[in-house]
Amino acid sequence: MITTSAIKAFGSIETPFYYYDIELLNKTLDEYTSLIGKYGYSAHYALKANADPRILSIIQKAGLGADCVSGNEVALAIKSGFSPDKVVYAGVGKSDKEIKTALKAGIFSFNCESVPEIKVINDLAAGMGKVARIALRINPDIDAHTHKYISTGLKENKFGISPWAFEDFAKLIEECKNVKLIGLHFHVGSQILDLGVFKTLCGRIAELQKWFTDRGFFIENLNLGGGLGVDYENPNENPIANFKEYFKVINENLVVAPGQHIHFEPGRALVGQCGHLISRVLYVKLGQKKKFAILDCGMNDLIRPALYQAHHAIENLTSEYKRKMRYDVVGPVCESSDQFGKNIILPQTQRGDLIAIHTAGAYGQVMGMRYNQRDLAKAYYSDEICQD
Ligand SMILES: *Cc1c(COP(=O)(O)O)cnc(C)c1O
Repeated sequence: MITTSAIKAFGSIETPFYYYDIELLNKTLDEYTSLIGKYGYSAHYALKANADPRILSIIQKAGLGADCVSGNEVALAIKSGFSPDKVVYAGVGKSDKEIKTALKAGIFSFNCESVPEIKVINDLAAGMGKVARIALRINPDIDAHTHKYISTGLKENKFGISPWAFEDFAKLIEECKNVKLIGLHFHVGSQILDLGVFKTLCGRIAELQKWFTDRGFFIENLNLGGGLGVDYENPNENPIANFKEYFKVINENLVVAPGQHIHFEPGRALVGQCGHLISRVLYVKLGQKKKFAILDCGMNDLIRPALYQAHHAIENLTSEYKRKMRYDVVGPVCESSDQFGKNIILPQTQRGDLIAIHTAGAYGQVMGMRYNQRDLAKAYYSDEICQD
């Protein structure tokens, strides 16, 4: 919910910009950390969802670790104060330079995805006189019931290791003296709202883990990844993701061996709802059959609709009218996919109105780019611009 005091403050800020509700972020983190505390789980925030310095500092202070998918993310996490022993690093294509960065930092775990990757990590670690802690990222072949571009745990996806290859991995790990297997990692997709997916995942983890324990490996850590979805349709009604049910499903279905630690990698669910992209209407253009509300923000500021056909709730914050009309809400970028919604019902809208695109805190600003030589949107924070 964007307060009237925030809307008043927006009046003097150049649009477009990202607005972060710090109070909501703190509330979300409080709820999340109290639940993981209750169950004794560990969490590593997925930096790729939002790497804004202020957001990172708040999450780091809340006690979370970091989940990284590049060497630069590892370096940023460490620079932002995340303790190296809480940093995990996944990705199908880690370069030698990135691996060295992470080895130097002494991270908790490389989440590994292929035989050649483990060989390279082993060689580089040997060269530096180190032993790399690794987890195997398993592809459990589970349909996450989400958009195909954000599904990662199906056997046709590039991510993870399939069970038919376990034999090779087991042999490799025994041969490689500079890697140590510390666990198994799973991440099956993003924006998952069907909690049954996580129940299925818990069942698959038990089966897959057995293969390793039967051969004498102790799986000290199980990492269940991220992926919990948020409510893009009704952000004001559901500002906080359903963490309670999520952890309940995990707790009731995951078989945990004595001495085993359970880890999570939340991204979107922590930061999605606290961010809004704020823009102004430049023009209302009448088409043959429709009205276009043309905003001063575009796909370069928020690419999710163009990239994943994602839906974001759109609100006119300052219309003076009661009468509702339908608009195609579009951006100024020279691409037909530069649109935020079709047939969106808004109160009558005119040039200069302030528009909020909600649930833009995850995979929003961080994916910003300068296509068309547009400026990158800046970030503003509720506790710095609001009077109350
Ligand atoms: C992207 C990603 C996450 C976070 O996903 P969310 O859907 O934002 O929670 C977690 N783990 C890995 C390995 C990822 O790539």
